[in-house]
Amino acid sequence: MFESIQPAPADPILGLTEAFKADPNPQKINLGVGVYQDSTGKTPALSCVRKAGELLARSDAGSSYLPIPGLAEYTSAVQQLAFGSAHEVVTSGRAFSAQTPGGTGALRVVGDFLAANMPGTTLWVTDPTWANHANIFSAAGVSLAKFPYFDKANNSLALADMLDALQKIPAGDAVLLHGCCHNPTGVDPTQEQWEKIADVLYAQQLLPVLDFAYQGFGDGIDEDAVGLRTVARQGEEFILCSSFSKNFGLYNQRVGAATFVATDAERANVVGSQVKRAIRANYSNPPAHGARLVAAVLGDDDLRSEWHTELTAMRNRINGMRSLLVDKLAEKSVPGDYSFIKAQRGMFSFSGLTKEQVLALRERHAIYIVDSGRINVAGITESNVDRLTEAIADVVGG
Ligand code: PMP
Repeated sequence: MFESIQPAPADPILGLTEAFKADPNPQKINLGVGVYQDSTGKTPALSCVRKAGELLARSDAGSSYLPIPGLAEYTSAVQQLAFGSAHEVVTSGRAFSAQTPGGTGALRVVGDFLAANMPGTTLWVTDPTWANHANIFSAAGVSLAKFPYFDKANNSLALADMLDALQKIPAGDAVLLHGCCHNPTGVDPTQEQWEKIADVLYAQQLLPVLDFAYQGFGDGIDEDAVGLRTVARQGEEFILCSSFSKNFGLYNQRVGAATFVATDAERANVVGSQVKRAIRANYSNPPAHGARLVAAVLGDDDLRSEWHTELTAMRNRINGMRSLLVDKLAEKSVPGDYSFIKAQRGMFSFSGLTKEQVLALRERHAIYIVDSGRINVAGITESNVDRLTEAIADVVGG
């Protein structure tokens, strides 16, 4: 039966991790996959999450199925964290949220929802974007198109080209934006730029879909929500996909949410009924433990404040490594101006390294970077930065 099946190509990012694991070089460095690492190169469990786990272990939350949209205390906390608890989107009841298996699960629920309820909708994505966006939406049967986002020559946002392209998208299509910490470029719009983007989106009658996987990794919990809070205009409809993989370090628990914001509570209920239908036919209902952990942390003042402290430490470390990398590149007289890396936000940077340089880093120095030149800044440590920048000097210089 299976004799005609051809092997699938390796995932460009997860395939890189496989190659890294197989490399016997003890000094190898992995700047590929987007997982936070501390100054010792480990991905630790957060202390607030461990404590929440201990609390949960002492209570009996039960093992029956969760409802299709998941735990109500979790989805309510998700909305409050994203918008702020007093925001009209939260208090009006015009948002329907479903707990999903990670941010990926949220995106897939959105894809299934669009394919079933708004057939013919094209989803427009930033050029470039996270490679899995295309996989997820194509698998759901949604067609994709790209609009300009990144100005390569200046390592900045290509705002004019972007607005121009958005103005030409047919009404009714959906536009996927990264809420903050754009993956892979690390370049986000300012609040002023978000206002202009939102003006065009709504003037064109487009449906914004915000992928929000890094809240707190850029400048702060509220600072990083500026984009989505700008898009969240009174009476306007949009979709938000949340992930708690990074900011709670819950990668393998699969904790996310899809929030559909409708014009009013009544319409949100109708939309919610279709979202539940999509989920029922996909994974039926979400896993409980990770969402219980997040709800326990966000629902307890002490644990929540400990989370803020731990999140701040992760963010500061990443931003500190950005500066260190730029300083070390200058110190080693690597040709080129890399100062833009300091201005980028989140776990990733577009380093500007070419594919040939990336391959040379892998072959000559056992340094693993995605072919596009995207580096996971969180993989840099004080102990590997010298080796890293010497290697970059080697491949850039010759
Ligand atoms: N969106 C973006 C932009 C991401 O970078 C990621 C994670 N790499 C996700 C969504 C999905 O996150 P999760 O691991 O929660 O599925």
